[in-house]
Amino acid sequence: MTAPDRDLDLVALPKTHLHLHLTGGMRHATLVELADTYGVRLPERLIEEESDDWRVLGWPRFQRLYDLARGVLRTAADLKRLIREIAEDEAANGSRWLELQITPSGYAARLGDLVTAMEVFCDAAADAERATGVGIRLIVAANRTRPAWEAETQARLAVRFADRGVVGFGLSNDERVGAPEDFAKAFRIARDGGLSAMPHAGELLGADSVERTVRALRPLRIGHGVRAVEDPDVVALLADQGIACEVCPASNVALGVVTGHDELPLRRLEDAGVPVVLAADDPLLFGVPLVEQYAVARDVLAYSRAELARLARSSVRCSTMPDALAKEVLAGIDTWEHQRLSERGPATAG
Ligand SMILES: [Zn+2]
Repeated sequence: MTAPDRDLDLVALPKTHLHLHLTGGMRHATLVELADTYGVRLPERLIEEESDDWRVLGWPRFQRLYDLARGVLRTAADLKRLIREIAEDEAANGSRWLELQITPSGYAARLGDLVTAMEVFCDAAADAERATGVGIRLIVAANRTRPAWEAETQARLAVRFADRGVVGFGLSNDERVGAPEDFAKAFRIARDGGLSAMPHAGELLGADSVERTVRALRPLRIGHGVRAVEDPDVVALLADQGIACEVCPASNVALGVVTGHDELPLRRLEDAGVPVVLAADDPLLFGVPLVEQYAVARDVLAYSRAELARLARSSVRCSTMPDALAKEVLAGIDTWEHQRLSERGPATAG
């Protein structure tokens, strides 16, 4: 194995970000400031900027902290600020395009109702795109621990907002609760309305969950999907259908999906023909942004410049980016890949 080329500037590599949750994209400083504004008492773990035990977070603790963090987002102004800051952080990570997961049912009560919540999200995304140049689209993600009818309501809502930036329908929260088949109708509504299916699977459950999700929900991409490697037939199914896995290295380590970054099955998936895209999932709780996920591929998995460029290309091809912009970003990736060493700027932390 050759030594990783740490001079590769990963911020300069044009890319997209296809797996990021709204609350999980909040800046730590914003969380602390809003908690102070609303008199919300945060646990020590969320107040400390540098926690040293992200690696042993585990699901129940993660979910509790996520819900506490979401509690500081109370008004339309808070959400506009959040989405604007997320877009600024995307730009700082060299991301040209973001598909952001939102769960409107979680905000309906505090913003008025479901439709008002969607209007806030869509307006905020459009404003942030104009301000930063980062393309932003929305994925409405149903909470799989809630009843199927709620997902169906949100699917209808998502379709209604398809002309205002909603491109996908997802399924999130604890994979061990809520079978994929229960949400088949919601995903049918979404697909019939022109949206792509982007559910989570193969994170807390194994390959069987990935297979059932593929068959029941017909996804364009799978959130995580890494545990598909437990069954070669399921990997072959993903490859045959060209279904991408949104691999989130820091998240997978923090939640114990893999024991360490060196266990991430990036190469196994890619070698089998499954498109892989890298993402951050919830940088607020897992501690590291998008560009650091590429740094894991570079530094731990010894991905070469050509292989990192391949990951970035995959992130463009597996997105819903319009063709003209995709062509431009792919050209930028080619330029990055073929830049000679002497032309490269100084190394960055990324
Ligand atoms: Zn996720």
